[in-house]
Amino acid sequence: MAPPVYDVVIIGGGIVGAACAAECVAAGLRVAIVEAKMIGGGATAAGMGHLTVMDDSDAQFALTRYSQLLWDGLREELPHEVEYDACGTIWVAADDEEMREVERKYEFYSTRGVAVEVLDAQSLREAEPNLRDGLVGGLRVAGDSVIYPPCAAQFFVDRSRARGADVFVGTGVREITADGVRLRDGSAISAGVIVNAAGSWSPELTSGIDVKKRKGHLVITDRYPRFLRHQLVELGYLKSAHTMTAESVAFNIQPRRTGQLLIGSSRQFEADEASVDGSILSRMLSRAIEFLPGLGKLASLRAWTGFRAATPDKLPLIGPDVHHPRLYLATGHEGLGITTSLGTAKLLVDQIVNRRPQIPVTPYLPARVVGAEPAHV
Ligand SMILES: Cc1cc2nc3c(=O)[nH]c(=O)nc-3n(C[C@H](O)[C@H](O)[C@H](O)COP(=O)(O)OP(=O)(O)OC[C@H]3O[C@@H](n4cnc5c(N)ncnc54)[C@H](O)[C@@H]3O)c2cc1C
Repeated sequence: MAPPVYDVVIIGGGIVGAACAAECVAAGLRVAIVEAKMIGGGATAAGMGHLTVMDDSDAQFALTRYSQLLWDGLREELPHEVEYDACGTIWVAADDEEMREVERKYEFYSTRGVAVEVLDAQSLREAEPNLRDGLVGGLRVAGDSVIYPPCAAQFFVDRSRARGADVFVGTGVREITADGVRLRDGSAISAGVIVNAAGSWSPELTSGIDVKKRKGHLVITDRYPRFLRHQLVELGYLKSAHTMTAESVAFNIQPRRTGQLLIGSSRQFEADEASVDGSILSRMLSRAIEFLPGLGKLASLRAWTGFRAATPDKLPLIGPDVHHPRLYLATGHEGLGITTSLGTAKLLVDQIVNRRPQIPVTPYLPARVVGAEPAHV
């Protein structure tokens, strides 16, 4: 029997693959999604679900801001279980040096149309009464929000299926072929375009792409409604997220709609075991308790780990592979893939169907990393 033929086959049913599928279907393409294990079960299940605008680079800002606006536009359509919560972020400054970073970020965001507010020590305490004394201030980013990522991935897959996509779950892709994919059970799917959206597994299917696993730990507490109002992130987090070699922890905590508190986070390279590392966990919790002393009295329920798919320049790979003429990449989203999934999906489909993108796509093209021209655009 001839293999089924699609316009696009997407490998990976995480938030990125799921969002890409929904966008492909919306563009009128016939789509197949192949997920080895479960929809939204990879990094998407492990992540925090903070939808946040970031300013590491102009390209990072452009993609996070574009994506955040797309999430805002989708807000009314998201089902209850996606737990969309417009809680906002406060970047917390512990000293004068970090307060200067608050001012820099204020300038950066406000000149680019993002609503931000500088908080002094008193207004920080009023905004988050459980923070310790002695903090100097912060930056509130009111438009940031939080979702529950696995349910968002499921929502995009369900929407795609309802509009005609075929979804294959349980058998992974063994290899990408000249005209599609071959699954581990030996069956084949033909497609005009193949999208590798397999997150930290993507290099297993496409050799030569520089995506490394970056392990992270998270802890979730029992329910403590009103303990926290915003996602809080220490400004020292930026130093931790920027370090490309060391293992690091930083204070990052999120109020869930359930009343639970999701505590992060750590970053480790060269740590491929999924097991929870007690010493990292205890450093992470100590850091959180330094900022929120009352946290020490609360009960935690579960700790887990996940793997970010990290690229050397901290930008995702979105676009044609340099070697395979039908292959596109949508991977390498590190710690921002929940946020940037929607912008990624738009930019990917813009390239597939030759639409004009809303933001420049060049900074995310896979060709930048290997310094070669793409095989096609
Ligand atoms: C601790 C932690 C905290 C984070 N916090 C945030 C946050 O607050 N905000 C944010 O924006 N981002 C956050 N992230 C990042 C975010 O979770 C990821 O960038 C995002 O989930 C990546 O989605 P993905 O679809 O690319 O990958 P994944 O979710 O990993 O999906 C890849 C899928 O591919 C499947 N797959 C793999 N191999 C194959 C194969 N051969 N065949 C078929 N399927 C295959 C896997 O089973 C998996 O389901 C965090 C990540 C971690 C680890």
